[in-house]
Amino acid sequence: MELLTGRAAFRAACDAARGRGVTVGLVPTMGALHAGHRSLLARARGECEFVAISIFVNPLQFGEAADLAAYPRDLQADLGVAEADGAGVVFAPAVEEMYASGEPEVTVDPGPLGSVLEGASRPGHFRGVLTVVAKLLHLAGPCRAYFGEKDAQQLELVRRMVRDLDLPAEIVACPTVRDADGLALSSRNALLGAEERRAGLALSRGLSAAAALLGAGEPRAALLRGAIEARVRAEPLAALDYAAVVDDATWTGVEEVLRPARALVAARVGAAGTRLIDNVRLDPPAVPRAAERAE
Ligand code: AMP
Repeated sequence: MELLTGRAAFRAACDAARGRGVTVGLVPTMGALHAGHRSLLARARGECEFVAISIFVNPLQFGEAADLAAYPRDLQADLGVAEADGAGVVFAPAVEEMYASGEPEVTVDPGPLGSVLEGASRPGHFRGVLTVVAKLLHLAGPCRAYFGEKDAQQLELVRRMVRDLDLPAEIVACPTVRDADGLALSSRNALLGAEERRAGLALSRGLSAAAALLGAGEPRAALLRGAIEARVRAEPLAALDYAAVVDDATWTGVEEVLRPARALVAARVGAAGTRLIDNVRLDPPAVPRAAERAE
């Protein structure tokens, strides 16, 4: 496995792989690798002969300086994980390497979906995300790029960017990996104490409650959203940021879940206000076929 810190060397490694006729797989991350990242690596490994993982804590997507400073970092441990999972290259550039002229003047406008939900809570976040993902995709060249459904709005925006800007990447969505108790894995979980971690479970429990309500025949989005809000509000260590139910294709709000939708939740947990997000797809219960209804 090669550790590369320069853009030119990373581009050359990906070009060389394609020159050998193999498919390039790219897994963009901010490091502090956990089983969620590893599931992306495993999928990439199964589908691509050459797998590159990028590890870069992108300052452009952080609003508060304290949040950026607190973000967990452990490059040595990450290199061990990447090697064990069969990455051919780790691209871990310094900030000055990615933004050689300082903060970029030209950035990617995420469009309307960039300013709602996560985008409303974190102004400029998705501009920062899409700008760094565009840079990584340009450096990697034609590839398959792996993203987690855990960050569903980010995944949707990356898909829209690739579509609208004709980037030569195929975006592969990977399901959310959870701990046994349901908590979605996140690098930020490392910042939680035991009590805070327990409080963080309110997010996945709220989403499960909404999915169960829908399964029991309740399609009204306001009530599904209310079920999520109630779980989070009942938790003294958690402060709800938002709960929402949107159409899974258009990402606009829905009154009733009659087509595939997505429930999303964000909250701050604990004294340090660690921000956690989670989401699930909501599939309306299958309408029984005529023959079954007649029985
Ligand atoms: P991050 O390092 O948090 O920027 O995440 C890098 C990639 O890993 C993103 O595509 C995330 O959506 C994905 N990811 C993070 N956590 C999980 C998880 N629990 N399950 C699946 N994918 C994840």
